[in-house]
Amino acid sequence: MAEECPFCEIVRGAAPADVVRETDRVLAFRDLHPQGPSHVLVIPKEHHPHLASLRAADGALAGELVLEAHQVALDEGIAETGYRLVCNTGRNGGQTVSHLHWHVLGGRRFSWPPG
Ligand code: AMP
Ligand code: ZN
Repeated sequence: MAEECPFCEIVRGAAPADVVRETDRVLAFRDLHPQGPSHVLVIPKEHHPHLASLRAADGALAGELVLEAHQVALDEGIAETGYRLVCNTGRNGGQTVSHLHWHVLGGRRFSWPPG
């Protein structure tokens, strides 16, 4: 667990979150600043800053996270109309929270490239 990581705080119950799904290794909660009608973050409970760290520790968990993200989309009712799955990585990727996470975005149409 990383000190002062806001998502680790959520995992240990020290900070509030609107949790929509939880397994023994994965947590999904609503983004504080939703970019669409449905915007959920899917994270490993264990602290990993990015995929490189996760691969070194537990590569299989990456697949589990993506499938959990799809389950969130099903639960949100956005799987059929379509959704965007985003993993911002590092400075150029626009990552602002250094705890690996996937954004599940849906409920409206997203353009490419993003603005
Ligand atoms: P990223 O830019 O990919 O690192 O995305 C970080 C996301 O986390 C942003 O969309 C923020 O709105 C969201 N966020 C930051 N803090 C919280 C929090 N405490 N609870 C829920 N979402 C958060
Ligand atoms: Zn963390």
